[in-house]
Amino acid sequence: MTVLKGKPVADAICGKITADIAELEKKDIVPGLAIIRVGEKPDDIYYQNSAEKRMESVGIRVAGIVLKEEISESALITKIHELNFDDEIHGILLLMPLPRHIDGEKVKREIAPEKDIDGLTPENMCRLYSGDKNGFAPCTPSAVMEMLEYNGIDVAGKNVVIVGRSLVVGKPLAMLMLAKNATVTVCHSKTKDLKSVCRQADILVAAVGRAKMINADYVSENTVVIDVGINQDENGNMCGDVDYDSVSAKASAVTPVPGGIGSITTSVLAKHTVISAQNMKL
Ligand code: NAP
Repeated sequence: MTVLKGKPVADAICGKITADIAELEKKDIVPGLAIIRVGEKPDDIYYQNSAEKRMESVGIRVAGIVLKEEISESALITKIHELNFDDEIHGILLLMPLPRHIDGEKVKREIAPEKDIDGLTPENMCRLYSGDKNGFAPCTPSAVMEMLEYNGIDVAGKNVVIVGRSLVVGKPLAMLMLAKNATVTVCHSKTKDLKSVCRQADILVAAVGRAKMINADYVSENTVVIDVGINQDENGNMCGDVDYDSVSAKASAVTPVPGGIGSITTSVLAKHTVISAQNMKL
């Protein structure tokens, strides 16, 4: 059984970015990422801190924008518009979900599509779903593709089963897989006989949000298992949607949690910010 770790993938992405940033610096361009956090949710603070660390390590300038939980929808939109027009900002990451009094669907549409490096806007979704490679796909499904590519796992012609159909993970990942000629099945809470559907997979992606749900009953000996989940187990420790001990005894390869897909996501964010800076210099 192969353990597919995130760190070498993240390092490889960052190595490539560092060279691209050096090229941009010759033209006096420093890629800039704005991270907008509304409120003090511990998960958001953790993600912001790790994203900032990653950006700084490769030479991307970060503007951390922390807004009060009570901020009005219109004030948040005004802030986004300011960033849209700021020439030093090439990417805007809006941490979701937003507080309940703010319409997240409405607000995310205000991000300029060319700075929407996490693929939240309808323009970028439309590009992804229509096969136009000029947009940005969300970072987490992109991280899954980076993991497979780095490890030489070609998805063309393979049976890929994705458990989860959210707009941030399952659906965009299905589009990325289709673009690489995989045969894709997307499962959800109403899927019948989920275990047997999953056992047909050459590549099984768990994006369910249920701690350790996917166990050895869901995999066959040849399955490559990608765990996107970030949950807490009964002891408060981070764990995935995959029961790692059970699955690793049977499947051919598994990504760990922590140390798997989650550790690639911020590198993809950095990569997208650099691409945006490269696009804007044209
Ligand atoms: P989500 O919006 O809650 O979607 C969960 C999906 O799983 C839904 O499509 C749901 O089906 C399906 N589902 C739930 N229970 C199921 C069951 N018993 N059987 C089959 N399908 C079931 O979650 P998400 O935002 O996509 O996130 C999924 C996981 O990825 C979470 O653990 C989240 O923390 C993690 N995540 C990780 C990263 C990262 O960087 N690694 C980023 C984002 C999210 P229905 O549609 O029928 O309800």
